[in-house]
This record gives sequence, structure tokens and C-alpha cells, in this order.
Amino acid sequence: ILPAERLPEWLRRPIGSVSQLEQMQQLVKGNQLHTICEEGRCPNRGECYAAGTATFLLGGSICTRSCAFCQVMKGQSPQAIDPLEAERVADAVQQMGLRYVVLTSVARDDLPDHGVSIFTGTMAAIRQRNPLIEIEVLTPDFWGGFADLAKALEAQRERLTQLLMAAPVCFNHNLETVERLQSKVRRGATYHHSLNLLAAARELAPNIPTKSGLMLGLGEEQEEVIQTLEDLRSVDCQRVTLGQYLRPSLAHIPVHRYWHPEDFKNLAEVARKLGFAQVRSGPLVRSSYHAGEE
Ligand code: SF4
Ligand code: SF4
Repeated sequence: ILPAERLPEWLRRPIGSVSQLEQMQQLVKGNQLHTICEEGRCPNRGECYAAGTATFLLGGSICTRSCAFCQVMKGQSPQAIDPLEAERVADAVQQMGLRYVVLTSVARDDLPDHGVSIFTGTMAAIRQRNPLIEIEVLTPDFWGGFADLAKALEAQRERLTQLLMAAPVCFNHNLETVERLQSKVRRGATYHHSLNLLAAARELAPNIPTKSGLMLGLGEEQEEVIQTLEDLRSVDCQRVTLGQYLRPSLAHIPVHRYWHPEDFKNLAEVARKLGFAQVRSGPLVRSSYHAGEE
């Protein structure tokens, strides 16, 4: 963790209700679950838990990729699929009284469906207990498994189709950063595979809004951020999140710059003008921040 004195004051905030936080932590730990909220020690936990929102990490706690910014554990030998994970997540969602759930997963490049059935199985288990709960999915790129480009594209589309048939309220896939920094920041993912996924989602399920997000502070220039927003709009992406990257540990890619809150406001203005229907832009914004609000 970065020494606190190096964080600008706009990135420091109180954690909120300690008892509510402890209650959530016990539920997550007691059910052997993983949430991005807890694993990333997200600064918005107090606010999100109070609003009935949390982000669950599916598919175990070890990722087959190793993105330079990400706090999730990395490993070449992914965990065996846990057949009871979906039920445990659904139990926790019910006990927490959540109204809006974000489901994400580690990249499961080792599985033929890249983990799509883990998402759909968990969605079904949650809905069995509460059919009205809203579920957003934040997915990996579902890319890979074939050296042949046409086959890889077809496989990505098939996996996506399976996922969209489960009717999430929002399909979220993050570009994470601008085109120039992709290979430095993300591993095994590319700007174009991700844009292609977002384009295909619009085409396959026009009623499901798409969403993407960027972390700022990795060395990008403002013009590059604007270009990325334009590229997202070119595939009719409708929602966007822009937040400050915070380094989870000294082993992760360093922060290049802390963008000022005014910069985030200006970028939000640009994004709205470009036609995004929902824009969240601020130093503490995360991909799932205020996800359940219009
Ligand atoms: Fe969890 Fe996302 Fe809220 Fe952070 S912003 S506490 S990760 S739901
Ligand atoms: Fe983290 Fe996702 Fe990258 Fe895996 S693929 S290291 S979970 S950002």
C-alpha cells in the first residue's frame, strides 16, 4: 500500500459504518467467498454496502492472467471449479439483503467456456431466492483457445451469447486503459478484442446496456482518454466509469499521476457530449460504483 502521505487529500475518505463493514466481512469470509470490495479494500465499501450493492468475484481466487494493476492472486494452475460456489454466493446475497449485485470473475482461460457457465449458474441461484434482484456482469474478454482468428472470434461470440441469454441488467467489460498502454497494463487482453466484445454484445442483445471503464493515472494523456471514449461510443457503449488507479502494493504498476477531481469533471462533460447515457467519473469511482443507480 502506498504511504498515506503520498495520497492527495481527495482520495482519503472515512470508511463508514464499522459494524456494517465487519458484518459484511464476516459473511464473505464465513461463506468462503471473494469480493472485489474486500479483496481490493475498496474505499467505497461503506457507501456501497449501505446502498445494498457488492461485487462478487467468481471462479475461485486465482487468475490465469496477471494484469499489472490487479490485486487478484495470479497462478498458472487455476483452482478446481467449486460446484457449491453459486449457492454460497446466492446465500450471501440473500443474507446481505442486496438489491443490486455485480458478478465478476477471474479469467478462466483454462476452461472451454472461459467461465461463462459460472456466471450463468450463479445468476440462476441468486434469482431462485430473489427473482427481482438486479444482476450486472463484469466479464473477462472470453478470448482465446484458438490460434485461428476466425475460430477465436466465433468462440468469443458463442461464449458471449450464452452469457447474454441469462439476461443481466447490464453487460460490463472494462478496457481498463488507453490503447497505447494496453500491453503494459493488461495481460492476454487487447484493446480490439475488448471493443469487439462490446460491439458484439450490442448486436446480440440490443436491450441490454453495455458499459466499460478506465483507470486513470497509468501514464495516459487526456487526448488518449478522449480517443478511448470515442472508440467506446463507436461500438455504441452506453455507460462509462472513469476512476483513479491506486497501486494495491509495491509489486504492482506504479501510479504515474493523480488526476485532479476537476479533470474527472471535465472528462465527464466530454463523455456526456459524446453520447454516453450514464457517466461516473471521479477519483474514487470504480467499475461498480453506484452501479445500481440510474
Ligand atoms: Fe464493491 Fe464496487 Fe462498491 Fe467498491 S465500488 S465497494 S468494489 S461495489
Ligand atoms: Fe485481474 Fe481480471 Fe487481469 Fe485476472 S484478468 S489479473 S482478475 S484484471
